[in-house]
Amino acid sequence: MPLTHYACANCGFWQRHFAPPDCPVCADVRNDLPEDGWRFLPEDEVRATHSGGWRQVADDLWAFTTMPNLGLAGTGWLIVREGGNIAFEAAPYYSDAMLEQVRELGGVRYLAASHCHGYGALFQLQRAFEPEVMAIQKDDLRMTKAFRVTAPYDDALELAPGYTLHHVGGHYEGQAALHDAGGRRLFCGDMFKVDQDAAGRSHAISSHKAFHKDIPLTHAEIRRYRDKLAPLDFDAVLTPFEYAPEVGRDVALAVLDEALTRAPGVKRLPL
Ligand SMILES: [Zn+2]
Ligand SMILES: [Zn+2]
Repeated sequence: MPLTHYACANCGFWQRHFAPPDCPVCADVRNDLPEDGWRFLPEDEVRATHSGGWRQVADDLWAFTTMPNLGLAGTGWLIVREGGNIAFEAAPYYSDAMLEQVRELGGVRYLAASHCHGYGALFQLQRAFEPEVMAIQKDDLRMTKAFRVTAPYDDALELAPGYTLHHVGGHYEGQAALHDAGGRRLFCGDMFKVDQDAAGRSHAISSHKAFHKDIPLTHAEIRRYRDKLAPLDFDAVLTPFEYAPEVGRDVALAVLDEALTRAPGVKRLPL
């Protein structure tokens, strides 16, 4: 069997392999195993069966998604800026048209992701645009077989002036958030889950170790989130799945403070 990229049919996680024995994301306690056993889709098959699209979310921000849904169905964010674009998280797969759109917007100079649930097809962005930085927090390096990390980091890494990655842990060992100081945004990975209606209006928010299984964070993990977020100014959060302009710093801190007043448990707080 030739070495190629395979996507897990259950969660969309990519591995470069000849015959993946299992999927480390699905085998992890946060996810469910597939009901009918492992199925891995070679890149050629995904390419033949998926397309995707993009939308402009703000003057300098674009969102890329894959259709039909593949795996966890995350979003690839692209921050378009002088001095080189930043891609954070990735769509599950990029069609040729999507890659061409990224190219027309200036390509990718800096590439990073919050944790493995947001990786999507990072390998495609690295292959197509050869970004000078591919940054992943060092505690999640074991999840990066599909691409090459050029900038593992410890507590924080400034990708470009005003764009800083912060290791926050909690949800995943290497979970990180990207703070965009000028844009007053926090790309928070799965630090928070925001429930939205079909129109994209947020109505509830929670923090968790595993969302679908309702496994909560410990108090120490929540306090660490709080310590990391308190010094950062932001008016919106962006998870791999949602853009939530309703969640600024004060709301985010209030969610964490509420969780510290009671026994650990996943609670969806209305917004
Ligand atoms: Zn999987
Ligand atoms: Zn996650």
